[in-house]
Amino acid sequence: MKYIFENGNSKDQQKKTNNSKYTLWMNSILRRSKEIGKVELPICSIILDERGRCIGRGVNKRNINKDPLGHAEIMALRQASLIKNDWRFNECTIITNLEPCTMCSSALIQARMGKVIFGAYDKKRGGLGGSIDLSIHESAHHKMEIIGGILEDECSQTLQIWFKKLRTQK
Ligand SMILES: [Zn+2]
Repeated sequence: MKYIFENGNSKDQQKKTNNSKYTLWMNSILRRSKEIGKVELPICSIILDERGRCIGRGVNKRNINKDPLGHAEIMALRQASLIKNDWRFNECTIITNLEPCTMCSSALIQARMGKVIFGAYDKKRGGLGGSIDLSIHESAHHKMEIIGGILEDECSQTLQIWFKKLRTQK
């Protein structure tokens, strides 16, 4: 499967582009994910404003809050919208270690997110190309810039280790 991004690059070409500023953030997201991984699926998201300042951070809190909407991206959006005092995110960037699911992808479109940066692709539930690409669906009234595969191996590995642990605990 070949992922084509808005700028026309294939996944391989995309990987080669210099995304070092996102790599730094992704490393910090991975560290936080591993901490939350003791009780939740290890997913963390941050939102940066137009000047690159972090205005929202969220971790998966589905179990802790008994909340089906408690995905990291939604939590980060809620915090950032309080700080921004706005629901529009056109000039913002969200960075997350796993490709957003269909619920979160829709929420990001609704929030008019400027850029979406993610690590691992989710071939089963990904809403931005891994399984279905909602960003190019005719229902998407807002176009987002999407870059996937930042620290892809590290991000996939963190999740694989977590699922393996879960299976051995059962
Ligand atoms: Zn989600």
